[in-house]
Amino acid sequence: MNKTKIVLIGRKEDGNYFIKNYLEGDMNSGLPRYGPKPPNHPSIGEKCPACQKPFKEGNYTTLVVLGPGDDREAQEKFKTGRPYNAVAVEVHWACATGESI
Ligand SMILES: [Zn+2]
Repeated sequence: MNKTKIVLIGRKEDGNYFIKNYLEGDMNSGLPRYGPKPPNHPSIGEKCPACQKPFKEGNYTTLVVLGPGDDREAQEKFKTGRPYNAVAVEVHWACATGESI
């Protein structure tokens, strides 16, 4: 399993999710798409948990949010619908969506 990352996730009044504090910054709706990866990106060489292939330069990826993890404060915020720090894993964009970009 590759390393998990922590992101701030919440829901806006219009129902869309937002994810902050990861690489390029704020995302407003749907899955965030990151890429193409530059050659010095820190996750290059880590294995994608969906297909077990390592991330390479030029890949597009996204974050799959797993939930609040074992952090009590994040669990409380999650239960009451407030933005919380979520545990997330990075996977290939194609592995998450079936799209071949
Ligand atoms: Zn993959």
